[in-house]
Amino acid sequence: MEPNPYEAPKVADPRQANLSVPIDGRHCPACGENIGIGPIGTEIIPGRCRCPYCHTKLTWKGAYTATLIMIVLTLAILGGAVLVVRSLGIENRWLAGAVLGVMALPPTLIVGWIGAALQARYSILRRL
Ligand SMILES: [Zn+2]
Repeated sequence: MEPNPYEAPKVADPRQANLSVPIDGRHCPACGENIGIGPIGTEIIPGRCRCPYCHTKLTWKGAYTATLIMIVLTLAILGGAVLVVRSLGIENRWLAGAVLGVMALPPTLIVGWIGAALQARYSILRRL
């Protein structure tokens, strides 16, 4: 059969791009790479990160609620650690600060990692 000369040319439509990319909380909607939880867990601005592959700015559903929960949990951990350090009666400020850091940092990091893992699993990444 002859090709129809009046048929519209096959031009890449940007809206049709990357339809094969899974729509989830791990795959960049721009380039389709699995970004993992690292960019979400380490980003400073709540609810925003950049794809480590194509540097597209990304955000995700529920990011601000999750950030609020993370701040509350971090403050609770920090408050609990302050109470424990005070009850120990450590005179030296530097030593008290070091004990506080050793007590509060690991649970804070664990909470942050769990939060990022939950967001990667249950939220949907989209371009900012
Ligand atoms: Zn990307």
